Amino acid sequence: MQRCIRALASLAFAGAAVLGASTGVAQSAERFQGILTVVWGDPPPGMAGGEERFTLTLPNGTAYPLAIAPASQNTALHFNGKRVVVSGEAFRNGAGAEAIHVLRIAPDVSGTVAPSPPATAAKPTLFLLLRYKDDSQEPHDPQFYLDLTNPKTPPKGSLIPATLNGFFSKTSWNQLQWQADVGGVGGLKHTDWLTLPFGKTHYANCGSSQACADINAIAADGLALAVTAGINPANYSAINFVLNNDLDCCSWGGSFIYNGTVFHGTWEAPWGQETALYAHELGHALGLPHSGWAYYSYDSPWDVMSMGTPVKPTKCGSYSSANNGGKMETIYCSAPGDGYIAPHKDYLGWIPAANQVVLSAPATKNVTLEANSWPLTTAVKLVKICLAGQDCSGAHAHYLTVEARLHKKSYEKGEPGDGVLVQDFQSDRGAIGGGCFFNNQSGWVVPIDATPGDYDSKNCNSGGRKWPDYALGNAEFAAGQTYNNGTLGVSVQVVKQNASSFDVTVKRTK
Ligand SMILES: [Zn+2]
Repeated sequence: MQRCIRALASLAFAGAAVLGASTGVAQSAERFQGILTVVWGDPPPGMAGGEERFTLTLPNGTAYPLAIAPASQNTALHFNGKRVVVSGEAFRNGAGAEAIHVLRIAPDVSGTVAPSPPATAAKPTLFLLLRYKDDSQEPHDPQFYLDLTNPKTPPKGSLIPATLNGFFSKTSWNQLQWQADVGGVGGLKHTDWLTLPFGKTHYANCGSSQACADINAIAADGLALAVTAGINPANYSAINFVLNNDLDCCSWGGSFIYNGTVFHGTWEAPWGQETALYAHELGHALGLPHSGWAYYSYDSPWDVMSMGTPVKPTKCGSYSSANNGGKMETIYCSAPGDGYIAPHKDYLGWIPAANQVVLSAPATKNVTLEANSWPLTTAVKLVKICLAGQDCSGAHAHYLTVEARLHKKSYEKGEPGDGVLVQDFQSDRGAIGGGCFFNNQSGWVVPIDATPGDYDSKNCNSGGRKWPDYALGNAEFAAGQTYNNGTLGVSVQVVKQNASSFDVTVKRTK
């Protein structure tokens, strides 16, 4: 049935993705053309909450929140930052805003495509320091954000244990670096924070248990202040909105539109203004979703876009937390304990074809798979196993990925072990929820657990096991272990561990 609807839709729109297919396409649906942007809200590590928001911005600048069925959100992500045609019905959402209930979304092939630039090379980025009108505190000196970003190693005497360019240089193999400026009173000079025209409750009228932040209003008001201060936002491809106090449940990252152009964006509360959490929100800003959600939300310790495993937590500041009754909270700066997973690096275009082995037909391959965290030279970094009868690219792709992890190198030191990670990549994966999931913002990639069944999914706890001997803490396949899936006709045998790689035998029989 679903295939049938898909086939019909692809006649109407080349490459169309059908959203909410089970409801069919209403005759009364209106057609909207614009640019799709996506943002994610993430709670602090260890806390609950979160939200994923889709927005359509029309050529005249009008922006509509999009209501997309959870089952179809991962498909829509493929059009993030792109011009799309939406078929849907207008309605007023819970916040009283005009929104669109999406029935179908497809890339707009008629107009000029204005996607965000590819995630390569040096990107100029602005840290815009914004304090709420009713709150004069300044959690960090402006220089802090330059130190946090620009050098590859933290300046001597700094409380920052790792920098963003150190992280990105390692995880992108020098294909992405940030050139940061700090914006405040007087423009790019290192002076005071800019003052937003309204207090916190205007932008985020809730506490930490809800996702209520109006990040578009912060972007609009913040950039208006920046322009008045003499800053030209068009000089940057990413804007980091640095707030002097809490937002809602969350800090946010994704894409947004300013003057018709797509920008990478982050909106960080003081607790998120540090390298590990910026690595996560900037990942969203580059278009990456989460990974994991095998047993519970954010459960993969192998990905900074999931649990993350920060190391070297260092007290680097404090602030009076609006969401905690004004209590002084310590701000911790840390180093990311892992990088981005290979399928996400592939999505960002960071793994050259020469460093990949793709099984596009039944075959057996012996591969020496070099650890993800080692420098990129000539070795294989990713094995992609296409599956019989399924797409191996695009908005309906479904394949398996194989990568090696050794946690000895920088920015991978927080990982729980060494081994081969087999992951299931599905572009149109439905939402993952249930009793142990506090949100359903999973993404395209779920690790396949080498030791399934070692989590108590009834009581949502480790069942008395010690980390990392449960859930995805021990998902890796070690030398001597084999992943075998008769239904898919796929096996991955880990033959041997070497100094910087694993020898694997990958078989596809169907
Ligand atoms: Zn996130």
